[in-house]
Amino acid sequence: MAKHLAKTEKPKKKAVIDLKEREIKIPEGKRKKRANAHAPKQEDTFQTAMLNKTLDRKFSLYELALAFLALLLLVVAWFLPTSGPVRLLTFLVPLLLAGFTYLFEAFQEAFMGIVLGRELIFSLASLLAFCAGSYAGGAAVMVFVKLSDLALAYVERIQSEKVSALYALRAEKANLVKGSDVSVIRASELKAGDVFEVYAGETVPADGVILDGTSVLDASSLVGGSFSIPVAAGSTAVSGSVNITAPVRIRATDDQQNSTCSTLIRAAENSWMHKSSQERLIQRVISYASPILVIAALALAIAPSITTGNWQMWFTRSAVVLTASQLYSIVQSVKLTYDCAAAYAAARGLIFKGHDAIEALSRAETIVFDKTGTVTEGRYRIKDVFPKGVSESQLLFLAGAAELNSRHPIAQALVTASGVYASDIKVVSIEETPGRGVCAFIDGRNVYVGNAALMEEHGISYDNPSVPGSAIHVSIDNRYVGHIILDDAVREGAFDALEELRISGVKTSVLLTGDVHSSARKIASVLNFDLVKAELTPEEKEKAVEYLMTNRNVNTTLAFVGDGICDTEVLRRATVGIALGCLDKPEAMEAADIAILGENIHMLPKAYQIVQRASRAAFRSAVVFGAVKLAVLIFGAAGVFPLTFSALLQCALVAFEAFSAYYVLNYEEGTPKPRIKWRKGRSHNERSDENFI
Ligand code: ADP
Ligand code: MG
Repeated sequence: MAKHLAKTEKPKKKAVIDLKEREIKIPEGKRKKRANAHAPKQEDTFQTAMLNKTLDRKFSLYELALAFLALLLLVVAWFLPTSGPVRLLTFLVPLLLAGFTYLFEAFQEAFMGIVLGRELIFSLASLLAFCAGSYAGGAAVMVFVKLSDLALAYVERIQSEKVSALYALRAEKANLVKGSDVSVIRASELKAGDVFEVYAGETVPADGVILDGTSVLDASSLVGGSFSIPVAAGSTAVSGSVNITAPVRIRATDDQQNSTCSTLIRAAENSWMHKSSQERLIQRVISYASPILVIAALALAIAPSITTGNWQMWFTRSAVVLTASQLYSIVQSVKLTYDCAAAYAAARGLIFKGHDAIEALSRAETIVFDKTGTVTEGRYRIKDVFPKGVSESQLLFLAGAAELNSRHPIAQALVTASGVYASDIKVVSIEETPGRGVCAFIDGRNVYVGNAALMEEHGISYDNPSVPGSAIHVSIDNRYVGHIILDDAVREGAFDALEELRISGVKTSVLLTGDVHSSARKIASVLNFDLVKAELTPEEKEKAVEYLMTNRNVNTTLAFVGDGICDTEVLRRATVGIALGCLDKPEAMEAADIAILGENIHMLPKAYQIVQRASRAAFRSAVVFGAVKLAVLIFGAAGVFPLTFSALLQCALVAFEAFSAYYVLNYEEGTPKPRIKWRKGRSHNERSDENFI
């Protein structure tokens, strides 16, 4: 408890950093390009090739039975009172049973000139031990390598099965409409612009817009929790959701390959391509260490043998060093831990686009939130209407008409309230200024609908609202015609989600919004934000995030959580961009490093806990592995650890690590309810606004 106290109180000091007058220029070239950042790097060094090769080893019950039979025969041979060539033969049997494929691959490697091949090194260790008369050790190397490979392959299989379960989301077929004909085609053949029908019970094959029909789409399997979307003409249809009630006709907005469903399957499958810095470091260390250790092992076999003449002893010790020189299982188990976290998350509608994103989120101490649609529901309600020189319904009609094309939650509320349809009016052009509002040319008249900043930008004098809430002003041909006050509610569960994040280690929570100070302060005080900044344009939000990123503590990161409306650039910019509720927002999904498909904000602390668990497991894995390998090297070379014991120890270690990755994959649901509630209702005064930027 004391630890949590310390964690939550610290950031208050940070709030007084004077950021005023600071102008942070974001150089164009520095902007993070997620598309490129996630492009697989060509790291196909020899080590990577070898790593991928060993991962190809598949788990099967047959292989497992073979390995256990070999183990049994090894134990029997150990206790049999044999000697000389008979003893050699009794150990040769388990060696061949377990190591036949390794020996075969070693030949292939030798033939291809891959002198540092994993199989070749293990075979060499076995051979050296046999030459030195340590038959048990030679056979143990192969048996235990096989068992440890199977342990890794087993967990890997379960992990990939979880990812493969996502394939079920993808529709196989589509009912393509051509004129009056409907033909069944493969879903993968669907292209942008194609019109198709989805009948009740069928899965939507590609993202699109409903042309005809009214139904309910069930996206529960996508988001990992119950989620139904009522749809009618004009609504968005998300691929992977299931049509529940009646047939609908849809026009595809993109090719099937780029659909939400395909994108998320690809992201879950390819998260391993974007390695964490930890993995890259381990891989680099290994690429130097392994060859050096192999050379050292060979030197150990040759030099002392010549000088002392006791070649049997040095050959055996060299074999121990050779087994310890193979460090790929470290990379494999770290990779597997991250993969398991990604697979676990994918099944819950949580997409980690890379191991780098998992690692970065686990180190996040500052989390910056967008307000509208992120910590609030993003479903505005009209609270009051203040017309000036026009009637109330005229004011609402104008606002609704101008907002027809906008996806902003305010726009949606205004359109609904006005009851206007696209067919009712002749809109020539609509231009949206993010963080300000819209400018529309309706029936030959210029209409501005937006906040005070928009009015000021166009030199239109406006009335100061007398009612609290988000005020949207309206002008027609530069004549002010009144304002509308809207209100948005805090998202259900947002308070608990934020408290859970704090309990889990988030030290500073920041609220950024384009909305007015009064609304921002109200939300900030309800949710206990440490810092709040209102009336920001999307560019200013970027600058704020950039500032916090440059002023963060060493070894910590900053995460930004947004809903993808007017904040995709900020999502790209932050070390970790998290898009919440991005099921029907492909741009947000593309820009973010972590995508939460559903609207449930509780998935945020859940994601934070998963990544922390994964990176702790990965770190522990790497450290324990490194320590054990080092011990085997030192004590093996010194003759303290016999070959059989070293092989057994390394196998036990790999098995332990594989199952700790499995533990991450089976992370226990139902995190405890936050216990700290005393911060509720802290008042946010003007100071906390002014001190930030
Ligand atoms: P937030 O930062 O809270 O997510 P946005 O950046 O999306 O909010 O919008 C900030 C403000 O800009 C809104 O509160 C509103 O005043 C104004 N605004 C943005 N888009 C529109 C729009 N389409 N119509 C009217 N006002 C808008
Ligand atoms: Mg927003």
